[in-house]
Amino acid sequence: MLRPGGLVNNINANGEAFRVPALPIEWNGASIGEGLKVPVLGADTSAVRSELEDQESSMTRVQDLYPDDRVSLREVGLRDGLQLVKTFPSTAAKQRWLREEHSAGVRHFEVGSFLPASTFPQFADVREIVRMVAALPGAHGIALALNERGVNEALASGVAEIASVVSATEEHSQANANRSRDQAIANVRRLCELRDASAHKPIVNAAISMALGCSIAGPVDPLEVIKLAEKCFEAGVDFVAVADTVGYAGPKQVGELTKAIVKMSGSRPVCVHLHDTRGMGIANASAALDAGARILDGSLGGLGGCPFAPGATGNVVFEDLVFLCESKGFATGIDIEKLVAVRSILRSEMPGEPLYGGLARAGLPDRKSGVAA
Ligand SMILES: [Zn+2]
Repeated sequence: MLRPGGLVNNINANGEAFRVPALPIEWNGASIGEGLKVPVLGADTSAVRSELEDQESSMTRVQDLYPDDRVSLREVGLRDGLQLVKTFPSTAAKQRWLREEHSAGVRHFEVGSFLPASTFPQFADVREIVRMVAALPGAHGIALALNERGVNEALASGVAEIASVVSATEEHSQANANRSRDQAIANVRRLCELRDASAHKPIVNAAISMALGCSIAGPVDPLEVIKLAEKCFEAGVDFVAVADTVGYAGPKQVGELTKAIVKMSGSRPVCVHLHDTRGMGIANASAALDAGARILDGSLGGLGGCPFAPGATGNVVFEDLVFLCESKGFATGIDIEKLVAVRSILRSEMPGEPLYGGLARAGLPDRKSGVAA
């Protein structure tokens, strides 16, 4: 947890632990600037002890919600999947979508964005949806907030987790959010401060968008992504997500970057957010799992396009992701057939939106028939 003058545990790109002042502070009478490294053994004050207790309770919460001995699959269709659509489900249909996926065993839902309802009417009901998810047994709701107004609204909604975004490249950060990457990090730091001062202290994640290739700058140096992830941890986030926003990467690249982020994240979970823009979604998810990612995002039917490739397919298909995990020996607790059946809600609510997915096309393998002739 971050507070002015506090310290945060951190792990550098080589996997070594160090502690770093959260904000400029006075330390033993000497002024210590932001970012200066302080050995763990020197940190022996009651303020630091309470910081550590806060961090421990925060880590416990993260591990309760994302246990490290299993894979957590997050349905992001209600946020990422609806970001670009022209028609969107009614609040009642969203609630049906959530209820039916919950009864199929899904527990993690990204439910919307705290953006101006005049521009994004699809998220105008986000508060109601947050409340609804919170009432489903064992379900965990996540909402995106991109500025201080949105963060305050998200905190007031009582949502369990707030998602934030930092672009991997300066070019995309300026073009997409009209701010530098440093300003984006300052924004994440402010989010964490507001979270720390809040009553219910939701989890905060930071997604590094364009982490595997940028629609403006092209190839992305993985060291830049690692540096940004480090800055997000310094700012106080509970975990980072590596996002292939435009679906540029293949499994080798995904595996290598995931491995590096897993190493620097230490005991924190790592999320990998993939898009199937070029058909690599499932192969990339497999590589991410092999590299130690334990949170993967997907959307039912692969809902959601690519903002920089009109007509392109969207997020990795959630139900195919479940099948991938099960086939690799990661129990998900999700009933695939029940999940596939939920697509009927999307078909009737958004008849113009293409839905994708191998499981929906072919069904589960018929185990009874054995080896086909
Ligand atoms: Zn996405």
